[in-house]
Order: sequence, then structure tokens, then C-alpha cells
Amino acid sequence: MTARYTQVDPFDLVVFGGTGDLAYRKLYPSLFHRDRRGQFADPTRIIGVARRALDAETFRASVREALAKFNSDEASAADVERFLQRIDYVSVDVGADAGWDQLAAKLGDDERVRAYYLATGPDLFGPIARRLGATGLATPRSRLIVEKPLGKDGASAAAINDAIGSVFLEQNIFRIDHYLGKESVQNLMALRFANALLEPLWNSAHIDHVQITVSETLGVGGRGGYYDESGALRDMVQNHMLQVLCLVAMEPPTSMQADALRDEKLKVLKSLSPIDDSNASQLTVRGQYRSGFAEGAPAPSYLEDIAKESSSTETFVALKLGVANWRWAGVPFYLRTGKRLPQHVSEIVVGFRRVPHEIFEHGSDGIPPNRLVIRVQPDEGIKLWLMIKEPGPGGMRLQHVPLDMSFAKTFATPTPEAYERLLLDALRGNAALFMRRDEVEAAWRFIDPIRDAWAHSGESPRPYAPGSWGPAASIALIERDGRTWNEELE
Ligand code: NAP
Repeated sequence: MTARYTQVDPFDLVVFGGTGDLAYRKLYPSLFHRDRRGQFADPTRIIGVARRALDAETFRASVREALAKFNSDEASAADVERFLQRIDYVSVDVGADAGWDQLAAKLGDDERVRAYYLATGPDLFGPIARRLGATGLATPRSRLIVEKPLGKDGASAAAINDAIGSVFLEQNIFRIDHYLGKESVQNLMALRFANALLEPLWNSAHIDHVQITVSETLGVGGRGGYYDESGALRDMVQNHMLQVLCLVAMEPPTSMQADALRDEKLKVLKSLSPIDDSNASQLTVRGQYRSGFAEGAPAPSYLEDIAKESSSTETFVALKLGVANWRWAGVPFYLRTGKRLPQHVSEIVVGFRRVPHEIFEHGSDGIPPNRLVIRVQPDEGIKLWLMIKEPGPGGMRLQHVPLDMSFAKTFATPTPEAYERLLLDALRGNAALFMRRDEVEAAWRFIDPIRDAWAHSGESPRPYAPGSWGPAASIALIERDGRTWNEELE
């Protein structure tokens, strides 16, 4: 199967933080992939903005270098040069007056779509939005694209949302959660709402529990300073994992219109059973990796990585959540995420209930229940574990085998980077895969009491060995309910 590519109307994309890691590693390569496929019409422009004084030619050379390093597509020199012709640069310190006039002059007063991507720290989101308002650069057709972290708690997220919302209409603000741009996360919606097969089973009568795992093998590395202010709960759960949970748990939206979808996700966030001082010790596990061996080599501890003597920041968290509504009453959602774990993997496991009455003999544990495993990364795909009869004579021996659909094997087209999809959606004005203000704030309303409970407990995160699946208490969290984390993961 091959993909169809539709052109986007000409646009100006201004990347604040245009010389940063995110821009070079993700944004320019993603834009380049789309341009190579003929999706950008002339005179589309991409304008980098940062403090350092660079002329456009030097900036283009730095983008060329980034493409040589981070572009995974086969590309000809002509493709690269055509893309670079779209690239320009303006030096602006967003906290000062200089440079804004040059940016305004460069943008001119064309009627085309204009998008401002804020690839800077979140402390600059408000100041940039206010300047764009004050200098008249925030035109009615302008859009603002912002990256996580959107604050570090409910109050700071609300302050950022107030600041950007005072200049841009909510419909023109695109809050990126790059997980929503991943193909398999979108496939979750296709699977649920484009097939009649699953929806009748998608409830507490047939589903026993859901697991969501996002694990990384690396430690915090060079991001230690940022990470120590954040931790796994804020860095992963508040955004990516709760968004994925929403797509699993939400009611079918009436359409794929952005607000129809986001209304349903919001209802899930509002239905989460609170975790606070009264139950955090039973429903949450925090961990921090110690030193040891990871992937065959000595690995420093978290404290060594961040060069501090102590820190209560968690590098691992496991949670047992409840969605208090008719569909999900009594179905636990187990979430776990962490650094220095044995595998780099993101997956969703939907565990179905056991058959009500067993007529086959199958060991002491009985017939294993069906599982639907949606692999988000790497090796994106879907596996449905079913019981079948082992072929051949010798009686009725049963086997648990997967119906296995690997996207790479099924589709000729390479899986696009999440940012490719999201950038183009924002430029087209399609907000379905972006978080609305009330979603972000509802997610913080669930997360903040967990952090408060941890602070009140006075306990430290539990140490765990690098290369393990986190503290033993995380295994106990699910096993005391008579369930196990997905055993396919080693
Ligand atoms: P970074 O490498 O430190 O880049 C920061 C950028 O902001 C640079 O281009 C810097 O250029 C510019 N900048 C800083 N202060 C400025 C000012 N006063 N005026 C104008 N430009 C200014 O950071 P990053 O890793 O790209 O991350 C950017 C944001 O995205 C952060 O909030 C991060 O948490 C988030 N994020 C990053 C990633 C990632 O993969 N890196 C992923 C998800 C989210 P000058 O120094 O020249 O001004």
C-alpha cells in the first residue's frame, strides 16, 4: 500500500528556539520529509529565531548539517537544497526589543497562514506570545504551537495558558503531545472506531484490566538538570500516558472533529478516581535508579548522573488507576514508566477476561485470557493473543498464539515521525491531535494531589537496579491483584 500526499497551502513557520536541540533533531528533519514528498507549495518559508547572531547562510548550513545527521530518508542533494531555499533566520532576544522589527519586516503582511512554533523553555511562552501580540505579528490567521512541558503543576500550567490565551484564540493554539502523532496511537482510534468487532467487548464485562508501559533503557544523561525538576510522573504520565489512557477509555466521539474528540478525552480525565494522601501508598510506586550494570556496561546512579547528594525525584513510577464510569467500573488501569529499564518500549495491553467455563484441560493456571497488545514503539504493530489447537494428532493441546500485524511488514510506506503529522495538522488548522486547555488542566488536577501525597509521606523513592523493571513494589502492585505485567517483555 502506498501513501497519498496532499499539498498544504503556502505558509510561514517561525521557529522560536530555532537553533535548539528539538529544532535540529526533530522539527527540520520532519519538515524536510514532508517537503521531499511535495507537500509544501511555494512560497512556503521556515524562519528560525534565536538570540545568537547568525546570517541566513550560516543558519542554512547548520540546518544542512542537522539533516545530514538526523534525516533518515533517502534524499538527493537537490532535495536538500530545495528545502534549504525555504529556510531563513532572524536574531531576536525575546526578552528585549531588538530584532522584532526585522522579524515583522521579513514576514510582511501576506495573507498566508502563519504559525509560531515555540521550541524554547516554557518560561518564554508567555513573553513571546505577548510580544507577538504587541508587535501586531499575531494576526487572525496566526497559530501558536507549543511543546511540553506546559507548566510543572496546575497553577503554572494555568498561568502559561492565561498568557498565551490573552493573545491567541484557543482554536489557534496547538499544544503538542508528540505521542498523539504516533501512528499506532492513532491506530488505536482506527481499531476501536472503524471496526465493529471490538466495541461491543470494550467494557468491564469483557475487559479485565489495561496496562500501559513506557520504558527507556537510558538514564537521564545530559538532561539531568531539567529532569530533576520534573520526574517521571510529570515528564511522562501527566501528558503522554494519560493521553493514551484517554484514547483507550473514551466513549466513541460523534465525529473526528477536534472538539468532539477532545470532549470525550476530557470526560475520561474527569472520571479518574482521585489518588491522594488517603490511598497513594497503595496505588503508586516511586523508584530511582541506583548504580549497577546496564546493557553490559557499568552505569552510574541517578544521583551521580545529576551530580547531587540527594534528590527525591522519581525516575520510575507505577500507578493503579480507576476510571469511575459505567464502562470501566472495577477495571484497573496499570501504568508504569521509567528510565534505565531493560527495554526501550511503549505499549498498551488490553487484558480480556477469562472464558466463563473451561472445557479444555490446560495446565494448573487454566486457559490464558486473550490479550490485545498495541506496540507504539519500536516495531509498531498490533498483536491479538488467541488460543488455538496445536496442529496434529495427540489430543486437544491448546496454544496461546498471536495474530500479529507488524506495520513495517504490512505497509510499504515508512512510518512517519510523529512531528511530521502534527506539524502538518497544525498548519492545516486541524486540532484533533492537540490538547485543549481544559484537558491539560484536568490532567494536572489528577497529578497534583499525587505529588502532594508523596511530599506529605516524607518517604524517598525506592532504589532499583538499572536493567530491572523498577522496584519490586511495582511487581507487587499488579501481582497482589492476581495479574502480571505483560510477560512478553523481558
Ligand atoms: P535548547 O537546545 O536549549 O534550545 C533552546 C533554544 O531557545 C535555542 O535555540 C536558544 O537559542 C533559544 N533561546 C533561549 N533563550 C532565548 C531568548 N531569550 N530569546 C530567543 N531565543 C532563545 O532546548 P531544546 O532541547 O531544543 O528544548 C526546547 C523546549 O522543548 C524545552 O522546553 C524542552 O523541554 C522542550 N522539548 C524538547 C525536546 C527535545 O527533544 N529536545 C522534546 C520535547 C520537548 P539562543 O541561545 O541562540 O538564543
